[in-house]
Amino acid sequence: MPASDKPKIYLSSPHMSGKERDYVTEAFDSNWIAPLGPHVDAFEKELAAFVDVEAAAAVSSGTAALHLALRLLGVTKGDQVFCSTLTFVASANPILYQGAEPVFLDSEPGTWNLSPSALERALQDAKRSGRLPKAVIVVNLYGQSARMDEIVALCRSYGVPLVEDAAESLGSEYRGKASGTFGTFGIYSFNGNKIITTSGGGMLVSNDAEAMGKARFLATQARDPAPHYQHSETGYNYRMSNVLAGIGRAQLEVLPERVNARRAVFERYRRELASVPGIRFMPELEGTRSNRWLTALTLEEEAEGTVQDLLGMMAEENIEARPVWKPLHLQPVFRGARYYTHTEKENVAERLFERGICLPSGSNMSEPDQTRVIECVLRTLARGRAGVR
Ligand SMILES: *Cc1c(COP(=O)(O)O)cnc(C)c1O
Repeated sequence: MPASDKPKIYLSSPHMSGKERDYVTEAFDSNWIAPLGPHVDAFEKELAAFVDVEAAAAVSSGTAALHLALRLLGVTKGDQVFCSTLTFVASANPILYQGAEPVFLDSEPGTWNLSPSALERALQDAKRSGRLPKAVIVVNLYGQSARMDEIVALCRSYGVPLVEDAAESLGSEYRGKASGTFGTFGIYSFNGNKIITTSGGGMLVSNDAEAMGKARFLATQARDPAPHYQHSETGYNYRMSNVLAGIGRAQLEVLPERVNARRAVFERYRRELASVPGIRFMPELEGTRSNRWLTALTLEEEAEGTVQDLLGMMAEENIEARPVWKPLHLQPVFRGARYYTHTEKENVAERLFERGICLPSGSNMSEPDQTRVIECVLRTLARGRAGVR
């Protein structure tokens, strides 16, 4: 059937609660159509309380929040910054903005996230060469927390600050503590495809209230305290608009529901695809609770089809599915960057890239739409099997 006959199923589409409009109307009625304003202040306080940190700064994107984190840690030209390789390009672009050099670290199989073993070897090498990284950026892929105990301990023992890219893991927990709160800084994204959205936006969080004051200063053009406009360092125009913060406040109120809905989508996929040979779902590390932002899985050798087959069939059915992120050490823009594999023999991220796929996972996905995705997977991978409709 031609694709156009069926309505499109998106990978992860915005899901409004209805209350966003009230907050936005409030912004209009009070004429707070500006960057900053009461919604921004309230959104920051509410998010800080939700994840239990001292301070939060609302900014124009998750990328901007990461850039500020690196600036605050003093990352500059010639410095090294370690970063997970299996992630979206935005995790590492701010390293280049600062003229620093990324060093990429492999994933490990239990979380698909940063391998403590790769991190340890990279830190040992860096120490030996007398050049420790200025920061380590750890990513929580598709909502799953990395092995924070091991990673935090390693960073502490080498005295290297940790930045947690929790753009995809807002609402997730690691041993009862909110994802995004394990590093010196954490960042969240409210891009349109994330678990909650402001249409575009981000948040920087930290328990270092003084640094967060500096973050706000840098994000508003670094204006010195003078009645005239005076500037002693380079700033940015990174603050969030008061209108968009209104959307964010309403979205934050329903975040726990959104997490439950995405987890329910995952559970249904897992249940109904359990019998398909060769499907292995992204694991959930014991003691963690993933928001299951995207349901991700790999197709192992015994699968009766490849990721390419499945992506092709999904496209035909007007279903948006995606391969797992292309590892950053393979991206042309980072050509030449160093890369540490999980072990001497195991390159986990490249394998996940070759075999991984993300299924539509929106919290507003209808049951019939979930059925369409499931049937498409069954048709591709369980051809000729009994019980396949
Ligand atoms: C979305 C995303 C970002 C960037 O967030 P924006 O708000 O789009 O700038 C950073 N890191 C990861 C892992 C992401 O998925």
